[in-house]
Amino acid sequence: MFVRIRCAISNSYLLLGEQPVLVDTGAPGDLPRILAALKTHGIEPGRLALIVLTHAHSDHAGCAAELRRRTGARVALHAADAPLARAGENGVLAPTSQLGRIVRPFVDQPFEGFEPDILFRDGFALEPYGVKGRVLATPGHTAGSASVLLANGEALIGDVLRGSLVWPNRAAPHFFCNDPEVNARSIVRLAREAPIRCHPGVLGSFPGSELGRYLTTVSGEVLEFSGEPA
Ligand SMILES: [Zn+2]
Repeated sequence: MFVRIRCAISNSYLLLGEQPVLVDTGAPGDLPRILAALKTHGIEPGRLALIVLTHAHSDHAGCAAELRRRTGARVALHAADAPLARAGENGVLAPTSQLGRIVRPFVDQPFEGFEPDILFRDGFALEPYGVKGRVLATPGHTAGSASVLLANGEALIGDVLRGSLVWPNRAAPHFFCNDPEVNARSIVRLAREAPIRCHPGVLGSFPGSELGRYLTTVSGEVLEFSGEPA
């Protein structure tokens, strides 16, 4: 079981396994929301077993350094995003649409840099931290983007895709994607895992079948897929 924590721009997720694990930490300034969620669920900060980052953009890794100080939890990140985490910078944010160009100044802020405690590559197991699931490499949005697959069939996919601004239960291309071809292969990989439901880093969740729908339309017009204004 897990709960969604709505941060200023993005979603963080609190996994409530045998031990609590946090997936993503919001943007700089989101710390009170994260701490409030821990409190709501009766979790003393020192009990947090692990912080997993789906990637090292400021709206996901923005509070990682401060949360580590507050909780003592180790921070896990894919090795390919470690340079971004160390620098506290987003690096390239390649817009996928006009909307991305509009949103970019709000997302592209620096954050406190940090050295991750755990640098994983692929198939990082969460069982040692009290959660039944694993972390798969799903690059494309960034080189080190990763997704959390829970044993119950739920997937926390970071910014591989986002929820729709308009339609409930629909996926849309994220505002930014540094390598669309690599990202499409990551979506194929996720689709093969047949998740029941995908919970993105931005906006609302959608059924796993949306991954397949995306792949059948990605070769055509992406905007047709998202059903949103460009
Ligand atoms: Zn991102």
